[in-house]
Amino acid sequence: MLSEISEIIEGDTRILVPSASLTEKIPSKTPAFFNPVAKWNRDISVLAYKTFSTLKTMDCLSFADCLSGVGARGLRVGVEVPSVESVYMNDINPIALEFARKAAELNSIQGKCYFHRSEVCSFLQSNAHCSQRNRYDIVDLDPFGSPAPYLDCVLRAVNDRGMISITATDTAVLCGVYPKVCYRRYHGYPIRSEYTNEIGMRLLISLIAFTAARLDLNILPLFSHTNLHYMRTYVKISVSNSEANELYSKIGYVIHCFSCGHREIWDVESNPRICRVCSSKCSIGGPLWKEPLNEQGFLESMFQLIPTLGVFQRTPSLRRSMDNLLSTGIEEVQEPYYFHTDHIASKLKTSPLALSEIVDTLNRVGFMASKASLSPQGFKTNASLSQILNTLKRS
Ligand SMILES: [Zn+2]
Repeated sequence: MLSEISEIIEGDTRILVPSASLTEKIPSKTPAFFNPVAKWNRDISVLAYKTFSTLKTMDCLSFADCLSGVGARGLRVGVEVPSVESVYMNDINPIALEFARKAAELNSIQGKCYFHRSEVCSFLQSNAHCSQRNRYDIVDLDPFGSPAPYLDCVLRAVNDRGMISITATDTAVLCGVYPKVCYRRYHGYPIRSEYTNEIGMRLLISLIAFTAARLDLNILPLFSHTNLHYMRTYVKISVSNSEANELYSKIGYVIHCFSCGHREIWDVESNPRICRVCSSKCSIGGPLWKEPLNEQGFLESMFQLIPTLGVFQRTPSLRRSMDNLLSTGIEEVQEPYYFHTDHIASKLKTSPLALSEIVDTLNRVGFMASKASLSPQGFKTNASLSQILNTLKRS
């Protein structure tokens, strides 16, 4: 059954994958799921988990991968994050688990790997191999589509002051193509604007926050990143009634005027939604998470640990990409939306301006401005759209 196996090296880890998964474009044709394109995503996660384990100053962390496939992420955590002493991999596909089990032996980490074949919530509730404690320190959920059906189970299965990492691949829903689906899955409305992925990320986090608060849990987003195909966030979870009570102050609405481009954040939903600049009717996004998507101290710690991972030591281009991703997040101005250079250029009726030029110009005249972490052509500023346009016209 496992005859068509290829061995690949990712980071410092040997992974066994169905040979077809390296060539087939449709994963369902392969006997077990492995996505080679997600290597960068896994590189980031190994760095994030290593950072979390360092800050937690514990050397016996447990890690649960709810939908492990052939075990690529779990195996890498087992090999590359030494303070994780137990790795629990769960998948409903027995062939995928067999790949993971054999790869654990190849990497000589079979002693700390445990394999489950269950539906996600059954796995998280069973804790069959968790004799020391009945919850996990880190729980990863990377499903096809939305994580919404599993969030309760994930939050119930994580330790106090533990971390969850959550991926959503229903980006079309979160980015406004299907607003009714977005509302029922994430309990908030998206906005199809040039910063739609940031709104989507904030809807994802607000669902995590609301679900956690219902369980007397408080959340702190540590690091969030996205591309065309997924949104992913790392969130610290703590047990605290009093902090969960503060949720109301962390949730808000973005209103956006499609006539003039003006946008602002509201604490509460109210009518009429009239643009204060041009008096047109505005669209509304949310309720959504209006607090930061990243924790500065966590990003700085991640940044410092980049050179300690083999994958970044060996590949300078990857190290530069990681440096850029994190330094942009560290320097980012804390606003819940960004502006896009193309949008600004069309407003000014000019060719697109260089991003760094816009940021420098706004900083020079006294506004706060920075690159946006979720878009290579985006910038954040405390200036309004009209202030941006006026400043750039004069420069
Ligand atoms: Zn307007």
